[in-house]
Amino acid sequence: MALLLDGKKISQEIKNELKKEIKESKLSPGLAVVLVGENPASVIYTKHKKKACAEVGIKSFSYELPHETTQYELEELIEKLNLDKKIHGILVQLPLPEQINAQKIIASIDPKKDVDGFHPLNVGKLMLGLPGFRSATPLGIIELIKRYNLDLVGQHAVIVGRSNIVGKPLAQLLLQEHATVTICHSKTKNLPEITAQADILVAALGRPQFIKKDMVKKGAVVIDVGMNRLDNGKLVGDVDFDEVKNIVEAITPVPGGVGPMTIAALLMNTVKAAGFK
Ligand code: NDP
Repeated sequence: MALLLDGKKISQEIKNELKKEIKESKLSPGLAVVLVGENPASVIYTKHKKKACAEVGIKSFSYELPHETTQYELEELIEKLNLDKKIHGILVQLPLPEQINAQKIIASIDPKKDVDGFHPLNVGKLMLGLPGFRSATPLGIIELIKRYNLDLVGQHAVIVGRSNIVGKPLAQLLLQEHATVTICHSKTKNLPEITAQADILVAALGRPQFIKKDMVKKGAVVIDVGMNRLDNGKLVGDVDFDEVKNIVEAITPVPGGVGPMTIAALLMNTVKAAGFK
């Protein structure tokens, strides 16, 4: 059986460190959590994020707006939060209802409060390797790999998925860690041949248990980003965990792998934001 990369345990370590840091620095970080509508998954995610904030001493401010909220109303709120000195980070939970242009909303957030790392300025800084906010899921994944002292230098990392929030930013972070990176997507030819070459395989495609044993190299490190709810209510990743776990060196479970690390990374970003003048 492979080494389990325990995101729950590592995220707890990070939370303990942040709690201590906040207490000692006398920082009083504030995070605005903006939720528009009642998407059930978003309601759960924001609840978890607020709970994690409370655990470490970050004050969270909830803004729950009705589904019919207009672009103008949401932009007005963001403007207010941009100016609010108690608020160091602004998180707008995605997806937003269809009448709202999410890209415009993200671009209206003050880049210094963009703790999700989605603002074009922060995305540009990531590309250039300049300091800035990195998006939470990729940041959490790198943190998890590092805290297990797994080697990244010169390793072939294959990412399945090219979204703006996971695949693309993660590719940049892995490049900065000197991995050799391949990004795959739905039009990739011979996907199993490519994934089978990965020293580090990241599955971020949103297809339940898609990655099977024959798609994975023996001894690889497998990071499963997927969170898929089956008809029977069970939460599974994009990797067929039971098939793959016996041939790999290390693997993240779902739940308890990348999910808690994403939240820990959001907290890290918020504490960092509170350090800005
Ligand atoms: P998106 O739907 O935005 O992107 C999915 C990507 O996977 C796309 O690039 C798509 O290709 C690619 N893809 C889809 N099907 C295939 C296929 N059959 N073969 C190869 N590539 C494929 O998803 P997200 O990045 O937002 O999320 C991915 C998964 O990660 C989801 O399960 C989501 O719930 C989970 N997630 C988990 C988080 C956590 O904290 N644990 C955080 C964020 C996401 P193309 O571009 O060609 O369409």
